[in-house]
Amino acid sequence: MDKSNRNHSIKCTVSSCKYHCDNADYCALSQIQVGTHEKNPTSVKCTDCESFEALG
Ligand code: SF4
Repeated sequence: MDKSNRNHSIKCTVSSCKYHCDNADYCALSQIQVGTHEKNPTSVKCTDCESFEALG
């Protein structure tokens, strides 16, 4: 995948994700899935990028 292809609609600082752009805080995917691991999410920390994949 082309990691220089910044999606300016998806800002992201998770540099350990394989879809994070190399030199900028953007995602390189055209879309992402956001979800939650909680029954009743009440704050930011309850939400997850479910498109995340670890580098390597
Ligand atoms: S897939 Fe999610 S965690 Fe990974 S770079 Fe894109 S927005 Fe960030």
